[in-house]
Amino acid sequence: MFSKVLIANRGEIALRVIAACKEMGLKTVAVHSEADRDSLHVRYADDDVCIGPAASKQSYLNISSIIAAAEITGADAIHPGYGFLSENPHFAEIVGECQLTFIGPPPEAIRLMGDKARARETAKNAGVPIIPGSEGSVKTVEDAAAIAHQIGFPVILKAAAGGGGRGMRICWKESELQSQYETARNEAERAFGDASVYLEKYLERPRHIEIQVFGDTHGRVVALGERECSIQRRHQKLIEESPSPALDDATRKRMSEAAVKLCQAVNYVNAGTIEFLYQDGDFYFMEMNTRIQVEHPVTEEVTGIDLVKEQIRVAAGEPLSVPHGEFRLRGHAMEFRINAEDPVTFAPNPGKIRELHLPGGPGVRVDTHVYRDYVVPPHYDSLLAKLVIRGKDRMETLARARRALEQFVIEGVKTSIPLHRAILNNEKFIRGDISTRFMDHFTF
Ligand code: ADP
Repeated sequence: MFSKVLIANRGEIALRVIAACKEMGLKTVAVHSEADRDSLHVRYADDDVCIGPAASKQSYLNISSIIAAAEITGADAIHPGYGFLSENPHFAEIVGECQLTFIGPPPEAIRLMGDKARARETAKNAGVPIIPGSEGSVKTVEDAAAIAHQIGFPVILKAAAGGGGRGMRICWKESELQSQYETARNEAERAFGDASVYLEKYLERPRHIEIQVFGDTHGRVVALGERECSIQRRHQKLIEESPSPALDDATRKRMSEAAVKLCQAVNYVNAGTIEFLYQDGDFYFMEMNTRIQVEHPVTEEVTGIDLVKEQIRVAAGEPLSVPHGEFRLRGHAMEFRINAEDPVTFAPNPGKIRELHLPGGPGVRVDTHVYRDYVVPPHYDSLLAKLVIRGKDRMETLARARRALEQFVIEGVKTSIPLHRAILNNEKFIRGDISTRFMDHFTF
């Protein structure tokens, strides 16, 4: 086992990893930008190193500073969290070359799945259903038009290097293809430094359902149930839950088997997520995320497995601690992302937290890095807290969520709390009758 883990991240996920390390008796190193000097992860870690100015490029994405911080403090492993360098195969490689352990999958698996157009091919070759679309990326708008004709409109153009909902453009008819193709490429180039785009049939009323997977270095891969993440705004998740109200045991089993098959095909190790779109009883592979997800607590609550500790154990070469045999989810869990943003326009709203009261009581978990008088910096994502609710079934979870959101107070910045309260009173949401288009029609 490691003795000291450096966390190459900030915010709530840095605290989450520190919590796991502390409980395992491991020392921790926090790295931080100049803007994050007063952050809790800096205070809670055994050591801390400033790795650069506020801009992520010069701090949380600065590989040489992070490696130097690990060497100076004597860390022997690095946990990348999510975002930042977590899905950068080059970083994972360098960590290994510096005789440190990367707490995540092998660089080859990250690279293979990081190109979403190639990942589709890998999934197809492994016998996992994919959304009809292009083979690899599309090279010209004429190619895109030919494929769109074959599969029929609407279609969606997506960045091969994509993430965070950027570089995605829907085309309802051929006349839109030319301009959307240019826009998608430009956006992809700007966001990821890679203009490649691929094309898929645009499903009109899908659910986003993903399977949590985990592989160890002893050749075992397990699926740990699903998370339904259909409540999104701008293709970004807002509420996640497990189990999905849409899946029966047979479909869950088929989806889990497909996810495990894909992991085995790429020799996957550590935590990962296989994202599917699900519509009319069929599911299609969309992409794989080769890291711990923001919404991992939902799975922790219904499986009783501490996924971050499991990541650390598996990275140290230990076998998965998940018992063999049939696997069942217990009760129900939901996560509400509390962002510093306008609940109507979704514009980020950084600033000083003037008042804070966190809900508690049965079945309530809050993963957060904020405190009263904390200043939310404008440089990073707007996630303030994750409210994770567990109940014996979906109805109890909804009631508990309403109660907890009533008690949740954040003043000083606008947050998504009022939006969540409103969603919890929506009839369709209560019935579980949702799709990724839910927010399109939601007035608040
Ligand atoms: P990113 O990695 O940028 O988050 P994803 O490929 O995970 O992108 O897609 C994000 C969301 O965009 C999905 O959850 C879904 O709502 C929507 N989406 C993506 N592809 C399709 C598609 N082919 N049809 C319908 N919706 C899609």
